[in-house]
Amino acid sequence: MIELQNLVKKYGNFTVLNGISVTIESGEFFVILGPSGAGKSTLLKVIAGIEKLDSGRIIVDGKDITNLPPEKRNIAMVFQNYALYPNMTVYDNIAFPLKMRKMKKEEIDERVKRVAKILGITDILNKNVTKISGGQQQRVALARAIVREPSFYLLDEPLSNLDARTRFIARGELKRIQKELNGTFIYVTHDQKEAMSLADRMAVLHMGKFEQIGKPIELYEYP
Ligand code: ADP
Ligand code: ADP
Repeated sequence: MIELQNLVKKYGNFTVLNGISVTIESGEFFVILGPSGAGKSTLLKVIAGIEKLDSGRIIVDGKDITNLPPEKRNIAMVFQNYALYPNMTVYDNIAFPLKMRKMKKEEIDERVKRVAKILGITDILNKNVTKISGGQQQRVALARAIVREPSFYLLDEPLSNLDARTRFIARGELKRIQKELNGTFIYVTHDQKEAMSLADRMAVLHMGKFEQIGKPIELYEYP
């Protein structure tokens, strides 16, 4: 369970986040919808600890993580430009965060293969990441996040670089993966359709606050 308590973030005298509060349950796919410039990325950055809050608290499973450095938070972040390491294979990209932790080779191998299977990328493990499609790169980025077994996931418009058809397929995949992991996902997007098709619950971010929080069906009537 993730509790955001009255989060406030300012850049100079511009208030980006003006009292954000919500409780997100474990295993929930929570979507934050808002236009460009609404503060979505900033919200994810303060949760990840990359940007400092002006005030407010972040509680994860009863533990206050507000002042922990990013590397102690056990949170995975997936961005729209996935920042894969270009001169490495798919396998080495996924294994990289585990090597950094000096995990044993056998355990790394076991984890990489398990995650590759979940994401359906087993047969491209030996390819260079520059030689695979955008949709495949997206999966590798997600695999690299999952392999660390984080307590939850922050996703910043991770599908926006895909073409419309691939994006449609990727949404279904992402939802399936989230359920299979029983992962807690916080996903931001400016795309209302995407929000509605993915969210268990969603919030609309406007003027630094959550205007509405609820199930998609409660917020919008289907046509
Ligand atoms: P979104 O992700 O919803 O597009 P952002 O969180 O990126 O929005 O940005 C929200 C607002 O905060 C924008 O007006 C942006 O220009 C501003 N902003 C973001 N980062 C900084 C920064 N480091 N310094 C000053 N202003 C920033
Ligand atoms: P996005 O909208 O995709 O989140 P942006 O282009 O708004 O990305 O921002 C890119 C980077 O520049 C981010 O790290 C953001 O924090 C920073 N940034 C955005 N707006 C400003 C600003 N007005 N002043 C300083 N840094 C900013």
